[in-house]
Amino acid sequence: MIDPRAELTRRRCLAWAGVALAPAWGSRWAWAQQRLTQDPFALGVASGFPQPNTVVLWTRLMLSPAQASHKLAVHWELALDERFAQIVQQGEAWALPELAHAVHVEPQGLAPDRVYHYRFRLGDATSAVGRTRTTPALGAEVQRLRLVYASCQRWEHGHFAAWRHVVADEPDVVLFLGDYIYEYPGAAQAVRTVDGGWVLTLDDYRRRYALYKSDAALQAAHAACPWLMTWDDHEVHNDYAGQSAGDSGPPVDDFAARRAAAYQAYYEHMPLPARMLTRALVGLAQGAELRLYGSTAWGRLAQLNVLDARQYKDPQVCTQPSRRGSRLVDPSQCADWQDAQRSLLGAAQERWLGEQLGAARGGAWNILAQQSLLGPRDFKSGPGQTLWNDGWDGYAAARTRLTQTLAQQRTRNAVCLGGDVHENWVGHILADYARPDSTPVGVEFCGTSISSRSGGNAKLAAHLAENPHFVFADAQRKGYGLADFTPQRLTTTLRVVQDVTQADSGAETLARFVVESGQPKVVPG
Ligand code: FE
Ligand code: CA
Repeated sequence: MIDPRAELTRRRCLAWAGVALAPAWGSRWAWAQQRLTQDPFALGVASGFPQPNTVVLWTRLMLSPAQASHKLAVHWELALDERFAQIVQQGEAWALPELAHAVHVEPQGLAPDRVYHYRFRLGDATSAVGRTRTTPALGAEVQRLRLVYASCQRWEHGHFAAWRHVVADEPDVVLFLGDYIYEYPGAAQAVRTVDGGWVLTLDDYRRRYALYKSDAALQAAHAACPWLMTWDDHEVHNDYAGQSAGDSGPPVDDFAARRAAAYQAYYEHMPLPARMLTRALVGLAQGAELRLYGSTAWGRLAQLNVLDARQYKDPQVCTQPSRRGSRLVDPSQCADWQDAQRSLLGAAQERWLGEQLGAARGGAWNILAQQSLLGPRDFKSGPGQTLWNDGWDGYAAARTRLTQTLAQQRTRNAVCLGGDVHENWVGHILADYARPDSTPVGVEFCGTSISSRSGGNAKLAAHLAENPHFVFADAQRKGYGLADFTPQRLTTTLRVVQDVTQADSGAETLARFVVESGQPKVVPG
């Protein structure tokens, strides 16, 4: 028999994590009589983190101040068709003021490898219809997977036209690799403006997410397919590392509280499963992790390992005296550069990843989806090095542990996808980057930004020549990557918009590459 008090506690914990629970009693009450003064579904819908039998469905209600103190029951429907003639599941989910009226529904018992349509209803308002899907059954022989990888969408730097082209490309899943929002108060020569100054408090983060999510192209991309996501620094604070603040904007007394507020707002606005709040909402304020990293199987075809290279990282070394954050460093002048104790992923995640990458596990393709550029990028031509201390270059021993793991575990068809640098970089993962003749143990596609600016191509030829493990780069164009996997090969298409300052910009293909299964070699395709 269920102890009613334990059951009540369980329900409360789940509710605080935002999990959909049928309200205990009819609390659609007064709501049916209350007039909605604005569209409660103005931020759109989203789905994410699909599995063979479930996928997270998301929305967040936008309410008038008078309505915003209420907890509300939202009706959700899941159907096989977009007209909702064949509804397979429906129910009520709480939208709590403590979670900014975010709604996360995790329907159970869905069929694998199946497309579904979903929508939400509140009073007489109905949301847009989202399209989502489950992953193939574990062990299923799957012939294709089309994924998009994208990152870095600074509002002020441009429009999100790239997302309209993502929708037209009809991916099975979008991998978003960080910098969903930026916390800055604005930008010089802004294409679009933000308000509210520096993003510091829970309210600030919520407003910034609401601004980004008002974008119609971004909403369309969320409504088109499920997303898998990780974050980088700007969801919290430029250059932050683990529990350490970065060095931009007004100093904040309690960085742990700022990080917890930012993590809560991220949860509230993304289609994340409730289990990622490892100790519920209250735990977040006490410093508990938001466990984003994890692995998603696409049948036997692919294993998508989504990593978190921000939440657990050790602080950057050899930064400017009495400052924090990132800078270019001469590693020969930095005693700590090769310190083997330092980690980018943290010990627990490194251990977990090592287990994932064993040849006995995984899929025909083993994807490492993470925030940044994996391979070294030496900016100094000729003898000596100039390296960025915030990405993998600043964590050289940890990177060597990862590449040695790929070599020793004989990981099949390792494919690293990244973001962060706002530029396309394509190349080979080497077991030992210090030796140019080292064996390739995988391939790397680091994607450009959706809109965030980059430095341009003036020095690109010199940078490519200095870093021969890369075979292609572009530091100008904005867009996303399209990765088509089959059992035989990976075809990666770099898609770029023609003019990031135009909401209706066209798009074109910048380059295409082929990687045959069993051969970690990138070939122009
Ligand atoms: Fe960025
Ligand atoms: Ca050099």
